Amino acid sequence: MKIVSTIEEVRAQVKEWRKEGLTVGFVPTMGYLHEGHASLIDAAGENDKVVVSIFVNPMQFGPNEDLDSYPRDLEHDAKICREHGADLIFHPTPQEMYGESFYSYVDMNVLTEELCGLSRPIHFRGVCTVVAKLFNIVTPDKAYFGQKDAQQLAVIKRMVKDLNMPLAIVGCPIVREEDGLAKSSRNTYLSAEERKAALVLSRAVFLGKKMAGEGERDAEKILAAMREEIEKEPLAKIDYVKMVDLETMQQVKVIEEGILTAIAVYIGKTRLIDNFMIEK
Ligand code: AMP
Repeated sequence: MKIVSTIEEVRAQVKEWRKEGLTVGFVPTMGYLHEGHASLIDAAGENDKVVVSIFVNPMQFGPNEDLDSYPRDLEHDAKICREHGADLIFHPTPQEMYGESFYSYVDMNVLTEELCGLSRPIHFRGVCTVVAKLFNIVTPDKAYFGQKDAQQLAVIKRMVKDLNMPLAIVGCPIVREEDGLAKSSRNTYLSAEERKAALVLSRAVFLGKKMAGEGERDAEKILAAMREEIEKEPLAKIDYVKMVDLETMQQVKVIEEGILTAIAVYIGKTRLIDNFMIEK
C-alpha cells in the first residue's frame, strides 16, 4: 500500500492501473478511521484497486465548528487501510487541494437546506466541492459512503446524477458499537459520562424503528416518542428529530417506504447524528 500526498501521484498511479484494465473503488474519509470506515474499504474490495482519501476538509466546517480539534492519526489510519486491503492512501494538505486561492464551488439547494443543512449552512457546499474534486482526481468506477451520514449520501447521489459524473455511488450500512452507539470519529470527544448519555441516540432510533416495524404509520407519534426518549437524558439537547422523504428532504406526516428518520443531538458540546430508513 502506498501513501501519497500530491494529486499528481494519485493520477500517475491510477493511470498505471487503467493501462492494466483494472477497476478502482474509492472511499473518501476525514481520517481517524474506525470499523465504520473499514466496512466501506471492505465493500470497495469488489474493485481491483481501492483508494482511500484522508483529508480533514476545512471548507465543510463552519467558523465555530471543530476543524482544529478534529482528531487525526495517520499512522493508525494507515494500519486500518492496510489490514483491509486498500492499495493507495491519498493524504493531501489543504494547500495541495485548494492552493493559494480558490473560487469554484459545487453547490446544491433543496436537499442541503433541511436537517444538518439548517444548523450547518455551508457544510454541504464544502462536502460537494471536495468530493467533486476528489472524484476528478481519483476518477473511480465506484465510490463508497456510509448510511450513517444519510443526508450526505443522498446529496452525493444527487450531485452525481445532476452533474452526470461517470461513477456509481454505493451506500453502506451503519456500523455500531456493541452497545448501539453509531461509530464516529467524534465519539472521541465524549467524556465517560457523556459516552453513556450518547446512547440515547441509538435508543431513540431503535425505538422509532420498532414502532414503525410494528405498523405505526403516524410520523408525529413516532417522532414524539423518540423526542421524549432523548429528553429523558439531561446531557442531551436535540438539534432535530425528523422524518423526511429522501428524494426531497421535506418532512412527511405518514410513513411509507423510502422514508428517512434522522436525528442530531448535542451531548454536551459534541453534535452526534443517527438515523434509520423504512426500507423500500
Ligand atoms: P468521515 O470520516 O466521518 O467523513 O466519514 C467518511 C465516510 O465513512 C462517510 O461516508 C461516512 O458516512 C462513513 N462512516 C462514518 N461512520 C460510519 C459508520 N458508523 N458506519 C458506516 N459508515 C460510516
